[in-house]
Amino acid sequence: MAVFNGSHISFSFSQLGSAFGEHVTPTALENGRLFTYNAEVAKQLGLNESELTSEAFRAILSAEQPLAGRTPFAMKYTGHQFGQYNPALGDGRGVLLGEWRDADGTLWDWHLKGAGKTPYSRHGDGRAVLRSTLREYLASAAMTGLNIPTTQALAMAISDTPVMRERIETAATLLRVTESHVRFGHFEYLFYSQQHEALGTLADYVIARHFPELAEAEKPYAALLQEIVERTADMIAQWQAIGFNHGVMNTDNMSILGQTFDYGPYAFLDDFDPGYICNHSDYSGRYAFNQQPAIALWNLSALGYAFTPLVDKDVINDILGGFEHRLQVAYSRAMRDKLGLSDAQPSDSDLFNQLFALLEGNQTDYTCFFYQLSQYRGDALLTAGTLNQFKSICQDTQALTEWLSAYQQRVHTLDDSTRLACMQRTNPKYILRNYLAQAAIEAAEKGDLQPTHDLMTVLAHPFDEHPSLAHLANPPTDDNKGLALSCSS
Ligand code: AMP
Ligand code: MG
Repeated sequence: MAVFNGSHISFSFSQLGSAFGEHVTPTALENGRLFTYNAEVAKQLGLNESELTSEAFRAILSAEQPLAGRTPFAMKYTGHQFGQYNPALGDGRGVLLGEWRDADGTLWDWHLKGAGKTPYSRHGDGRAVLRSTLREYLASAAMTGLNIPTTQALAMAISDTPVMRERIETAATLLRVTESHVRFGHFEYLFYSQQHEALGTLADYVIARHFPELAEAEKPYAALLQEIVERTADMIAQWQAIGFNHGVMNTDNMSILGQTFDYGPYAFLDDFDPGYICNHSDYSGRYAFNQQPAIALWNLSALGYAFTPLVDKDVINDILGGFEHRLQVAYSRAMRDKLGLSDAQPSDSDLFNQLFALLEGNQTDYTCFFYQLSQYRGDALLTAGTLNQFKSICQDTQALTEWLSAYQQRVHTLDDSTRLACMQRTNPKYILRNYLAQAAIEAAEKGDLQPTHDLMTVLAHPFDEHPSLAHLANPPTDDNKGLALSCSS
């Protein structure tokens, strides 16, 4: 099909040379078939339904055919995993297929995850299972709907290829698209392997392709590091405000664009639990929800170290020193929006601390609380009806009443409609809860895609009401809480 060939497809990364990875031939899925695709993402790329349901696209997605005749490329990177440097990483089961230019001129990497073994597979089989692939597919849409920077998932294929994990599962592929697949670990690899010329080449490539305005800066490499620090701070602020726990914040899972990257055992908080650890393989809680800001800085410091051949050490330290302030400003802004506070007042930190204590003490569902709060005008906050509505998610009525009074006082000078409008575009009704993802996976494994489609509908517009799908806003029952999630994928 002509659209999968042509001059809008290029492959600049693969032309950087052998220091950056290796050309590979993927291993096709057995009986690979299109499972689902994201029509919104397709539209961004300029693809329509008939193209996505074509034989040509099925063959690309099933790793049978390359994109535009270009040999796929496995990227080399390393990184710090749980604090330890691992030199043996790289695209072990995913390959870059090429770069796709959309109608606006934006270049999108096409990356096929689960396409078979590569030189970096180590002992792995090069495959991804339906379960983990669908989790990434759903999370990419969820984050997009929440306006949080993320990679996108264009489509998924399923197959008859058996894959051994804790049990036998079937292999799937995910076609991930984003402007860059460069991770912190790409820079770490070239630094630790002392390929410092190539390190400069990578920085030049990233600037030219993603941040051309930085080429004009007095010190472009320092400006690049600064940009990555700022984007990462902004992204983490949004994770903390929405209640997202990534789970595996290794430096090879950190994007230089500040996008949420590599979805593994992630979770959105149900009950507000600051120390929540979604990854059951994370025994020390290194990647717990409330550790994410500190870990992001740790990861940026690892990146900063890899920048030492390019940027003066003092400058690097100054740039890293700006992270905390940037994050704090972005986080405060995001949290004030959640409460509809258009201005900042010194007493706000007390209001927030009391709120966090209330939510934690009552194991209150984080998303439900803010959604509910965004439904009431100031004068209705303390009525019996309102308190009754909160009862199912917050048992301590006295503490709740105290906090709502303080909040009522705080907002009584603000315009109610403006406050509620702000809150209603900030506090989603729908969030990708693990029990919902799990239900979609179990149905999908039996060939039923309806739960996936329903979830995608609400996740694409999580601030809307969707009355016929309102059950998808329910917090988990006690049985559905705390589903075990491992790194196995
Ligand atoms: P991840 O946990 O998905 O971030 O992957 C960490 C590293 O392990 C990366 O280098 C992956 O490419 C590699 N990897 C993960 N799963 C597999 C697999 N099934 N086969 C080969 N390599 C894998
Ligand atoms: Mg990874």
